[in-house]
Amino acid sequence: KSVVNLIAAGEIIIAPSNALKELLENSIDAQSTQIEVMVKDGGVKLLQITDNGKGINKEDMPILCERFTTSKLVQFDDLKSIATYGFRGEALASISHIARVSVITKTNQDSCAWKASYKGGEIIGGETDGIKPVAGKNGTILVVEDLFYNVPSRLRALRSHNEEYSKIVEVVSKYSIHIENVGFNCQRQGGGGYDVNVRQAASRKDRIRSVYGSSIANNLIDLDIEIDDETRENYGLVSCKGLISNTSFENKKTIQPIFFINNRLVVCDPLRRAVTSVYGTYLPKGHRPFIYMSLTIKPENVDVNVHPTKKEVRFLNEEEIIELIVDKINDILKNLDS
Ligand code: ADP
Ligand code: MG
Repeated sequence: KSVVNLIAAGEIIIAPSNALKELLENSIDAQSTQIEVMVKDGGVKLLQITDNGKGINKEDMPILCERFTTSKLVQFDDLKSIATYGFRGEALASISHIARVSVITKTNQDSCAWKASYKGGEIIGGETDGIKPVAGKNGTILVVEDLFYNVPSRLRALRSHNEEYSKIVEVVSKYSIHIENVGFNCQRQGGGGYDVNVRQAASRKDRIRSVYGSSIANNLIDLDIEIDDETRENYGLVSCKGLISNTSFENKKTIQPIFFINNRLVVCDPLRRAVTSVYGTYLPKGHRPFIYMSLTIKPENVDVNVHPTKKEVRFLNEEEIIELIVDKINDILKNLDS
């Protein structure tokens, strides 16, 4: 059983940034308004995420890292959409099989915070002695240490600490642009300050400015595609909004298009290629546009399970939906010319 868990965990979490993404999504799901990330050694030594969300009930702590333990079932009306959003209670279980996990958490009903540590899916010290009262604020501090300590092959396959840290910064940056009304920051332990620092009240444009700089933030156009009833019914596309640049930028190799589908950061290569190539017909080759796009698609049409890290996404009527988006961007860029 434990070998199976280890393999499953190794498939879901292949780098510190995958673990971080899961923890970040949990903090967002917990309705936090401030989320702080602290990293040591590219996330291998330490990944710590502090939120001010609703916390975890003490009685749920013993099973926190058990597989298929999720508190999110009630929010969704059918099993398909649960699977789609990835709410299957697998992330913490997986992480606890390949790292040392501890949590300090306090709900607003508790008079103190509670702390517990986990190994191999289980709470260390048992459900009565394993949970200790500590001082703490409302919210949750999730600490992941020594990631892959028991999976040497994964450890060897990692890039340098700097590169792994960049991937973490990228995930935090993209979520900090998408999730409004939440403040985000990210730093290295003992490092020279914040590498992401977005204020809670910042508008989306200010979020982009703070992460990617003014040259990009000053050149953005609102994207808000009107979806008629027929499109909604036939293709399952509910909305498509975002901010895209009215120009493209040289030497900005770090700006890859940012796609959220149903509020999850995803990779969608067909969409990325199609959208980028529209710019190619209007703007200099070799330059990159800035694209941030948030799509809502009927959950039953989305399949996030094509890649184990649940990033590469597939959805029904992909071609039709991409064409619709491409046409709209084409119109926008054409109008800039005239
Ligand atoms: P899932 O997100 O699919 O439910 P996870 O393994 O990621 O599964 O998390 C398991 C459960 O732990 C969540 O359903 C939630 O109840 C709780 N949880 C995890 N992180 C937090 C957090 N930061 N704040 C509040 N609850 C959390
Ligand atoms: Mg989760």
